[in-house]
Amino acid sequence: MDVARALEWGERMLRESGIDTARRDVEILLQELLDVDRSALYLDRSRALLPEQKIMFEQWIKQRCARMPLQYVLHKAWFMDMELYVDERVLIPRPETELLVEVVIKEAKGMSEPLQVLDIGTGSGAIAIALARHMSGCRVWAVDISPDALAVARINVGKYSLQQRVTLLEGNLFEPVKGMAFDIIVSNPPYIVRDDLIELEPEVRSEPEPALNGGDDGLDFYRKLCHAGELLKPHGFLALEIGYDQGQAVSDILKACGFKDIQVLKDFANMDRIVLAHKWK
Ligand code: GLN
Repeated sequence: MDVARALEWGERMLRESGIDTARRDVEILLQELLDVDRSALYLDRSRALLPEQKIMFEQWIKQRCARMPLQYVLHKAWFMDMELYVDERVLIPRPETELLVEVVIKEAKGMSEPLQVLDIGTGSGAIAIALARHMSGCRVWAVDISPDALAVARINVGKYSLQQRVTLLEGNLFEPVKGMAFDIIVSNPPYIVRDDLIELEPEVRSEPEPALNGGDDGLDFYRKLCHAGELLKPHGFLALEIGYDQGQAVSDILKACGFKDIQVLKDFANMDRIVLAHKWK
């Protein structure tokens, strides 16, 4: 099998499985398989796959046809300037969450360092690691209730040699950091309405349910996270990712908990996506 045939066969298989991004997916799989960039696939179309590459490629296509997300097939997710290890134990980091990181970095400018940051529900560690890399001198505590997720986060913390600056802790919400005080608390909690989970794309349904399920109205975790005020320093702030229609509801919850200067920010699709709230301003 050469590259031209692999592209053609792979695209057809994926398309027959109802995958709209078939061409893009097969290109990415071949790029990863051969460790080349996209143009090389078209410049060297007659390059033959080695027998072991062909076996691997066929296995990847089979997994993707079963609607396994591309990132789980490759054990790789791209987030900001990083390539993180992922598997079924963690939610795949989304582009919207890059916006959360950017908002935090911008909002933290001018705060006196070294900053103490808390990430609740760290999953793959994407947010915690990105903040540690982009805010020099900050220290991050990253909590998750799932030991499986923390095993993945540990791989990623090691990959970027941040063991000294990112501390991973197992436990429920604020429980492992009781008595500590933070400048910044950040979270991308589960926020999908429980009854809507069934309607998600098959790829999303292969992700860990506890990372998506926000309870009856999708807001369960915001009602818990609004206690963040007790762990924030006076000038500190809370930054949360939210669902596309949750801006008003989450603002109301935070307001009732005493947060000030609450802002809802929109994403690239002009949907509510981030809430920023200050303890005191
Ligand atoms: N953005 C994710 C999705 O729509 C949900 C992530 C979450 O619940 N935090 O699939």
